[in-house]
Amino acid sequence: MLTGYHVAVIGGDARQIELIRRLNEWDATVYLAGFDQLNESFREAIDLDFDSQQVEKLDAVILPVPGTDDDGKIEGIFSNQLIHLPEEWLKRTPDHCLIFTGITNTHLTKLANKVNRPLIPLMDRDDVAIYNSIPTVEGTLMLVIQHTDFTIHGSKVIVLGLGRLGMSLARTFDHLGAEVLVGVRSSKSAARVYEMGLKSIDMNEIDKVDMTCDILLNTVPHLVVNASVIKQLPSHALILDLASKPGGTDFRYADNRGVKALLAPGLPGIVAPKTAGRIIADVVSRLLNQNVRKENG
Ligand code: NAP
Repeated sequence: MLTGYHVAVIGGDARQIELIRRLNEWDATVYLAGFDQLNESFREAIDLDFDSQQVEKLDAVILPVPGTDDDGKIEGIFSNQLIHLPEEWLKRTPDHCLIFTGITNTHLTKLANKVNRPLIPLMDRDDVAIYNSIPTVEGTLMLVIQHTDFTIHGSKVIVLGLGRLGMSLARTFDHLGAEVLVGVRSSKSAARVYEMGLKSIDMNEIDKVDMTCDILLNTVPHLVVNASVIKQLPSHALILDLASKPGGTDFRYADNRGVKALLAPGLPGIVAPKTAGRIIADVVSRLLNQNVRKENG
């Protein structure tokens, strides 16, 4: 429960709807900004007034998954207005107030340092990244099915990266009957791939190894799917780049070669916003309970 906690939710997308619902269920006092066009009204929530004393009660400020832009503006799909996150306003929050964001940038990190409030980029956390890999894998399956005319079963699939997402992808495509190879750069990850009963590709030698496959799934946020990789792919191959923008694929070269290559960011928010919102809500609630003590909470 979050009885006695005061939380401001500023901007965001459908994930925030589930987050707000959960915060209400857990009895937090919720203040909203950037949801003015929402049909579904949250009767228990209070409009956030940046000029009022509300700020002095806040235990947490929750920003959208993309955080702010480089100028400190916050977007929300339920409002036409960009919301500015004022430094002076943040300074008026209690010292313990936690600032949650999905990802951070230089502006937001500097701002949190300046106002001396803890900034928690949720997507950097292992727990959130691993939970989020579940809807991401489902979104990947959806896109692969939509953009190929052959089954996953029996296809040769290369997954680049064996991090929190790569591992979930490799396992799922293996279970679906694909022949899965995983691109890794360390002997530790190669050992893990072996333990999983799969074959590894040494990414330190990516320009020299056999990269032919039907489906290439990239999770490495650096240019790894380069021209030398793409030129080995058959014309029916699909490259799905899941790494954060701008991805790790030479999209221009893929286009010239006639190989379909798609950058697919933000899949949890697209295919399962409710689950993605619940993942955020659970972690926010846990961190609030751990970090901010409430006598009646
Ligand atoms: P992660 O756990 O950090 O894994 C990244 C992997 O990339 C690791 O295996 C790492 O290898 C490898 N790697 C990094 N730099 C490399 C390089 N220069 N050469 C070769 N390998 C390299 O990250 P994650 O949580 O799996 O997420 C992966 C990417 O997917 C991120 O960009 C994330 O933002 C994105 N993502 C996208 C979606 C979506 O909806 N599309 C959803 C979730 C995550 P080591 O282990 O050797 O360091």
